[in-house]
Amino acid sequence: MNDNKIIYLDHAATTPVNPQVLEAMLPYFSDKFGNASSIYSIGRESKKAIEESREKVAKAIGALPREVFFTGSGTEADNWAIKGVAYANRDKGRHIITTAIEHHAVLHACQYLESDGFEVTYLPVDENGLVSPQQVQDAIRPDTILITIMFANNEIGTIQPIGEIGKIAREKGIIFHTDAVQAVGNIPINVVDLNVDLLSLSGHKFYGPKGVGALYIRKGVKITSFMHGGAQERGRRASTENIAGIVGVGKAIELATQNIEENNKKLLELRDRTIEEISKKIPFVKLNGDRYKRLPGNVNFSFEFIEGESLLLMLDMKGIAASSGSACTSGSLDPSHVLLAIGLPHEIAHGSLRITFGTENTHEDIDYLMDVLPMIVDRLREMSPLYEKVKRGN
Ligand SMILES: *Cc1c(COP(=O)(O)O)cnc(C)c1O
Repeated sequence: MNDNKIIYLDHAATTPVNPQVLEAMLPYFSDKFGNASSIYSIGRESKKAIEESREKVAKAIGALPREVFFTGSGTEADNWAIKGVAYANRDKGRHIITTAIEHHAVLHACQYLESDGFEVTYLPVDENGLVSPQQVQDAIRPDTILITIMFANNEIGTIQPIGEIGKIAREKGIIFHTDAVQAVGNIPINVVDLNVDLLSLSGHKFYGPKGVGALYIRKGVKITSFMHGGAQERGRRASTENIAGIVGVGKAIELATQNIEENNKKLLELRDRTIEEISKKIPFVKLNGDRYKRLPGNVNFSFEFIEGESLLLMLDMKGIAASSGSACTSGSLDPSHVLLAIGLPHEIAHGSLRITFGTENTHEDIDYLMDVLPMIVDRLREMSPLYEKVKRGN
């Protein structure tokens, strides 16, 4: 392998900006720098670029342009959706339903609300990471004001039955938010068909820029404004717009949804080959997440008798960038809350590896991964006294 080439297998953490996206963004850092609120021509041009981008985002998820609000990230969209609905509807009730495997942007927003007088039910998931619609239904109370359940999990890739949950929420008249940050660009989504009231997305997860996202807010949903100030985003999210970022998110979502079938086919091939080869070539492994209801590029395995961190460091030395758990939890020694929620014991949750493929990955990348991974796993296991015992058969 070429010494400086990095094989990037961590697309759930972030993706490289598509060159066509970058090209679309660049003029807004130079000639086209006008403030979208100004009435002279370069201001109006910026305004037009924002509205075109809004149309692209709306089209990609089956919404109306006026239902799309740009935010500073996926995290911001989640926080706005959850706190905004909670505070705007607290006269109706203070109960929220979510799951144990949400991204921290959702979990920590819910925990914050608990400290301010709201009650949150964290639904468990099964061993594959699936939420049961029946359990959602059973958790609904007269004072439930919000259901927030992620579309697809960032660690184990499990795709939830969002349509079924949406139907239940709509029948009961409860607002339904989904964190679709991992799903947008990977799975075709139509917010109308799925009965979704609010949906979060983030540019850097589908080959757009970091620091820009969007929240879909179905017209008529009661929600407080996120930022108070100027009249931007129809007064709901004040502050001078990140025009280049917004243009980038529009271009990226357009490209991702245009190529969704072709990309999915390729990612599924890479994913399924990797799952098969790891299962076959390495003993004492377990696939985490549902085998089929999972994101097309997601592979997540636990390796017994191994520390995930050591595995990542050794892969890094071989030029492979992957992850254990999520980017936000690596660096801390706590095992992933997602892996614990699907029932893994602490020591096995610690030994997990997440590989997430993207459009630029190839079969040669897997050839190389499968050259080095079994060897690294062997070497790390040789250092484990527990493994020695198991090998000796006692
Ligand atoms: C990445 C991610 C987020 C956070 O989005 P940012 O734009 O990085 O703030 C939220 N939810 C999920 C599921 C994610 O994967």
